[in-house]
Amino acid sequence: MTMCIICTGEYKTIESLLKLYCSGCIRLTKIPVIPGLQKLDCSRCPNLIEISVIPGLRELNCLDCTSLIEIPIIPGLDELWCSGCKSLTEIPIIPGLKYLNCSFCPSLTEIPNIPQLNRLICLYCESLTKIPVIPGLQTLNCGCCPSLTKIPVIPGLEYLNCSGSRSLIYIPNISELRTLFCYQCPWLTQNSEFEENLKKLRFLQKKIRQLYAGKKLEALSPQISEIYYSPGCKGYELAKRSFYTQTHE
Ligand SMILES: [Zn+2]
Repeated sequence: MTMCIICTGEYKTIESLLKLYCSGCIRLTKIPVIPGLQKLDCSRCPNLIEISVIPGLRELNCLDCTSLIEIPIIPGLDELWCSGCKSLTEIPIIPGLKYLNCSFCPSLTEIPNIPQLNRLICLYCESLTKIPVIPGLQTLNCGCCPSLTKIPVIPGLEYLNCSGSRSLIYIPNISELRTLFCYQCPWLTQNSEFEENLKKLRFLQKKIRQLYAGKKLEALSPQISEIYYSPGCKGYELAKRSFYTQTHE
């Protein structure tokens, strides 16, 4: 049976280890503190139950570590991939975290308000009921989360994909939003407020563009470039509408 350099102890002999790849080791149960480590890929280790707090770690990939029950709080961690961690019931508040991908985590019911978070990808989280209001969040990909019923107002959100989150009944009017994917959300069609909000949003953006047009600052004005919306789930192509062409008719 092949062993990774943590299991063999070899990692202790390497001076200033910056990146460590120990993906797919079936013997690994614990990641020790490795001083100076910046990137760690310990994905697909089915028996890994614990990751130590490694000061200075910037990127952690523990995708498909099905026995992992806890993510350590590592201040300064920039990016975290923990998709497919089936035993994970919560994500801690990690100060400074900018990117989080926690898709396919069936036991996750909530995502905390992580102040610096910029991109959140939480596809196929079947127990997830709530999306936090994170003011700096620009990208939210929360498609195929069947327990999600609403998207909160997240000021500054530019990209939202909630397609296939079939229980969604509400998407608010978010003024910075440029791209919205919300096909296969059958209940949205029964929410007249959503249509009303989109109309208001289009009107507002048209006005802003008109204001800027004379000053040749059009490019600076906010603009929804694409809307994918499926009244009654009639399919992807039918759902595709271009906001830009509509407002220039
Ligand atoms: Zn190992």
